[in-house]
Amino acid sequence: MEETGAAPSPPGSGESGFPVYQAARCGGLAELDAELVRCRACPRLVEWREETAAHPRAAFRDQEYWARPVPGFGPPDAALALVGLAPAAHGGNRTGRMFTGDASGDFLFAALHAVGLASRPTATHRGDGLELYGVRVTAPVHCAPPENRPTPAERRTCRPWLSAELALLGPSLRAVVVLGAFGWQALLPVLGETGWPLPRPRPAFGHGVQLTLPATGQRQELQVLGSYHPSQRNTFTGRLTFDMLVELLARAAGLAGLGPSEG
Ligand code: SF4
Repeated sequence: MEETGAAPSPPGSGESGFPVYQAARCGGLAELDAELVRCRACPRLVEWREETAAHPRAAFRDQEYWARPVPGFGPPDAALALVGLAPAAHGGNRTGRMFTGDASGDFLFAALHAVGLASRPTATHRGDGLELYGVRVTAPVHCAPPENRPTPAERRTCRPWLSAELALLGPSLRAVVVLGAFGWQALLPVLGETGWPLPRPRPAFGHGVQLTLPATGQRQELQVLGSYHPSQRNTFTGRLTFDMLVELLARAAGLAGLGPSEG
């Protein structure tokens, strides 16, 4: 029988269905990153990322803010993923690279360098020459949210980007470090959606908590570790010390097969 009517057109970049439609169609991380940076699916976050860029901090007044979704950073065959929550308004939203240009990133990249997972201890801008070895840094929400708090609906809307990213990393991915309780809450549903079976009840977040997600037909075993977020609130108060983060990253690197320490 002859079909009548045109096929529905794909969702535009400003529609809430854009991430779920587009992310699953990407055949590699470069394509995924290129599609991601077009996304305007969350009106509140689009407004905030652009509003922040229009009112830069005094120290960054001469810089052009990225003001778009911030893609993951690191090689496409990473064995270890570091997952925060979302880019910072004057950090990743300014530089266009995760954890780059803010105090949390300074702490994190210095620790990654100490463990041998980064080529240099500092991250200042996209062209600074920083390389990560076997590690990809990403987030479940790719646009900077007001108060660093995405809503549950925004987390759900953005979820397909990280789900696709983890699926594309899948063959090499062995371990994930989640930075902070909000990241933990946001990541576990993504892992479930990507094909790893989650235990019930879901384990609570804590620094050093380790969760083993068993292999399935499509996915190999994955180690998930919790770490306190390297926010100034945690690092200034000593809740997360540099040595604590280095120790946890070294453990994760060992589990991912990137370093000598198994744990
Ligand atoms: Fe798109 Fe995610 Fe940004 Fe929302 S947070 S606009 S889904 S990239």
